[in-house]
Amino acid sequence: MINYGSFRAVQEALRHGTISCRELVLNFLQNINQNKSLNAFLDVFEESALQQADIIDQKLKNNIAGPLAGLVVGIKDVFAYQKFPLQAGSKILDGYSAAYTATCIQRLLDADAIIIGRQNCDEFGMGSSNENSAFGSVKNFLDNTRVPGGSSGGSAVAVQAQMCHLSLGSDTGGSVRQPASFCGLIGLKPTYSRISRHGLVAYASSFDCVGLIAHEVETIAKVLSIVAGKDDFDSTVSSEYMPDYATSIQENKNQTFKFAYSKQSIEHDGIQPEVKQAFSSAIEQIKKDGHQVNEINLPLQPYALPTYYILTTAEASSNLNRYDGIRYGASTQTSSLEQQYKRVRTDGFGEEVKRRILLGTFVLSSSYYDSFYSKAQKVRQLIRQETIEVFKQYDFLISPTAPTTAFKLGEKQENPLTMYLADVYSVYANIAGIPAISVPCGSDLQNLPIGLQIMAADFQEIKLLSIAHRLKEKLKLHG
Ligand code: GLN
Repeated sequence: MINYGSFRAVQEALRHGTISCRELVLNFLQNINQNKSLNAFLDVFEESALQQADIIDQKLKNNIAGPLAGLVVGIKDVFAYQKFPLQAGSKILDGYSAAYTATCIQRLLDADAIIIGRQNCDEFGMGSSNENSAFGSVKNFLDNTRVPGGSSGGSAVAVQAQMCHLSLGSDTGGSVRQPASFCGLIGLKPTYSRISRHGLVAYASSFDCVGLIAHEVETIAKVLSIVAGKDDFDSTVSSEYMPDYATSIQENKNQTFKFAYSKQSIEHDGIQPEVKQAFSSAIEQIKKDGHQVNEINLPLQPYALPTYYILTTAEASSNLNRYDGIRYGASTQTSSLEQQYKRVRTDGFGEEVKRRILLGTFVLSSSYYDSFYSKAQKVRQLIRQETIEVFKQYDFLISPTAPTTAFKLGEKQENPLTMYLADVYSVYANIAGIPAISVPCGSDLQNLPIGLQIMAADFQEIKLLSIAHRLKEKLKLHG
């Protein structure tokens, strides 16, 4: 595989005619073929990707190609792409093909990006290791005995192993940032409502965000400008001003910022010593770059994880009602309608999805509604308030992205609670609705990557991407 270093260099080469989109796609297809054992892709759209490549090559010749010409994108199996299979990593959607195209995918296509395939993930986005996929686990490219993180594990590995330039993932509680951290990549979860969810399979609608994974911040910035912004099909999308992110991140190069980190995050029991060490080094590095870094108190942070698991399971139990074997995917012949529902849902959903539907139904049941669901809603509001206060004084809130590096396949499968702890730092941003990014900041003794999470106030993506861009090389060198 020819490595052009950056997507900017790829576009430069396309302009000079030293490479064509067809050659690029063929290169990625070859890599996908050579790395089949990683199980990152559920479907490779070879024919349509090559067709798109030829059309874009022609447009390049005529000087009418769109801004993402040459960008080869993989999509997590939670995005609708008309006529292509869509299963959210679940057996319950066996045989289902999307009836329409998600807004974010349509915008990529309109900008002349090429969609190369559908990527493996945890069933309905529920998981932190990609081991909850009905299609088997995905392996980390750096060490095949380890997980890639989840739920967008296939999406991260596809970028990590050069099978595409960028992946479109979804992040409900860390599913883009945690795999990015485990695979040594950049993962962005924008502000809630920045990108349309039209055509994204719902997990927990008030948390779900479309997210981006790539090697470079600049590529993510460029794609964000294309996919974000108002959409007639999703009334929750914000009409907040949409800047040109890729140009803007070059602008505030010398600005200095105020960073905060919470005492609670580094005192957490489950944090791997090397992660703590890399986080402290990152703080030193940020200070050396001229910024101020202060320790603060975030008393509500320890409540983020239980709040997340109460609210998301409640929303999931309601969202997943629609999979009844009648309207979508798998169905069976039974003697009664009730029997059919039971059979389809019993056979179609995996263990973790069932666990969450049960949990969600429980917290929404009339006898427990007040003590769990409403209470968690109140805590969510308080956490949001706490965050607003932080950003009155600080530009960024930082923490490790995950408490550990990539763990062994099977290591946390037995006890779901240990798996849920993998999200201890990432769920906070989804509860508050704020944007967050994971940037590599070092590695552990096994040479596995460690991620730094940077969070900012609502719609501060420019600031967030700029600082990530600026710190990326420095943190890697000194992690
Ligand atoms: N690991 C978290 C969960 O299982 C986050 C998943 C996600 O962001 N989709 O809920």
